[in-house]
Amino acid sequence: MNYNDTSVPYPALPESQLMLKVGCEKCLELPKSYDEVVTERDGEHLYDTSHHSFHLENCRFCSQIYLNQFYEEIADGGEYLMWNAWIPLTSEEVNLIRDNVSNDIRDASFGDWLKNFMLQRPAVYICLPNGEFIRG
Ligand SMILES: [Zn+2]
Repeated sequence: MNYNDTSVPYPALPESQLMLKVGCEKCLELPKSYDEVVTERDGEHLYDTSHHSFHLENCRFCSQIYLNQFYEEIADGGEYLMWNAWIPLTSEEVNLIRDNVSNDIRDASFGDWLKNFMLQRPAVYICLPNGEFIRG
């Protein structure tokens, strides 16, 4: 097969598979604990209510940008249950988010809009309330 022949109708990869090509081995590796997370916050929160927030993070090694979602619930016993999830973004998506960011960090409609980004592909990892990291 001639792979230079662009007329061959290759099936499009699902977006989740395309996204595996972003990032580097350090930021795609499943952390064992929070200390091993290699991404850092990039600026202010995009959306922030007392128990739910979004912000952008950069990989310290490859600069891949991730959308981070933090969610917190208070259990019956008053214990705080916290989740964190990270998904990689394309540069187009980063621009789209920055172009649409609300002046009000509590803007619920922008929060819902960001939630949809999180649903578009698996998270590279999710930190569960017990501190365990899993794939999304
Ligand atoms: Zn990286």
